[in-house]
Amino acid sequence: MTERLYLDHAATTPMLPAARSAFVDGMLKWANPSSPHAEGRAARAALEDARSRIAAALGWSHEVIFTSGATEAITIGLSGSSADATIVSATEHDAVHRAGAKGYFLSVGGEGQVAADALSGRLGALGAKQPIVAIQSANNETGVLQPLHQLGPIIRGAGGLLFADCSQSAAKLPLPDADMIAVSAHKLGGPPGVGALLVRSLDMLRPTGGQERGYRGGTENLPGVLGFAAAVEANRGWVERAKDLRAHLDGAIEAAGGEIVARGCPRIATIAGYRMPGIASATQLIQFDMAGIAVSAGSACSSGTIKGSPVLAAMGWDEIAANEVIRVSFGPDTSRADVYRFIEAWKRIKR
Ligand code: PLP
Repeated sequence: MTERLYLDHAATTPMLPAARSAFVDGMLKWANPSSPHAEGRAARAALEDARSRIAAALGWSHEVIFTSGATEAITIGLSGSSADATIVSATEHDAVHRAGAKGYFLSVGGEGQVAADALSGRLGALGAKQPIVAIQSANNETGVLQPLHQLGPIIRGAGGLLFADCSQSAAKLPLPDADMIAVSAHKLGGPPGVGALLVRSLDMLRPTGGQERGYRGGTENLPGVLGFAAAVEANRGWVERAKDLRAHLDGAIEAAGGEIVARGCPRIATIAGYRMPGIASATQLIQFDMAGIAVSAGSACSSGTIKGSPVLAAMGWDEIAANEVIRVSFGPDTSRADVYRFIEAWKRIKR
């Protein structure tokens, strides 16, 4: 049987060995961290220790609220914020669009980035309202990085808050200077079912739940949190190496007649979108799968089905071309040989 090659790490990535063993150790600390007895206090101490370690490893010196993943962090942050309006950029993950469904829309340019003047215009039209503005760091389909260092001060200057969904960039790139940040453990080598909302100050949130100092309800997932902490602390040297692999892959795909999504734009090294003209992404996925290679089309994480990409539509792609794009995403073990194998398969499928 052909050995499988997994190039869909943006959907989820295998747990790192350190995270796996921390998760298993966590299962032995089975007590409820809210219980006042000695077993509960030991679980609480482990939870609080993990909270500090995650903050330190991410370089965050403010509040950390544990959640069940980025989706819940987004929901708590956007629906529970003290702001009186919500603005959502066009290429956000579905979780952000749902949480900010009653908000205002912020368009992106052809390369997928929010332009400073579009943001200023949107903020100006709100008058005296103080909004929370959701702009992700790295896009989960294209890898496009938003210029948050430039956009953040514009939002703050208008009295607003910046909410940055960092699901695809946390522990790979430094966190942006934002007021709230969503992080997901299973995107960075931790277990699924755990994540965090990072908040600059609890004053920015309305309390809604029984745990996490009143900002999230539900018994804390201690094994998950311990696995999360171990994953965040793991060495990220591979992200630097991924830059070379991605540059090589970009060049080879272009030379073979493919198109790179957001070619001219800063992109995270771990995610790329490639168009194979004339071949639908659904067909490509089957062909790659038959060749032993797992990739994805559009955003596969919520449905398991393939549907048109709102991200590419927001960037002005027509439907036919957008439906010819697949996403390739790297993980810690992706090697040069893996990239060569993918390129050969890509050329065979295109023929
Ligand atoms: N935001 C982005 C950019 C994502 O890629 C994902 C996952 O696909 C999410 C949010 C949701 O993360 P989770 O699965 O932790 O809820």
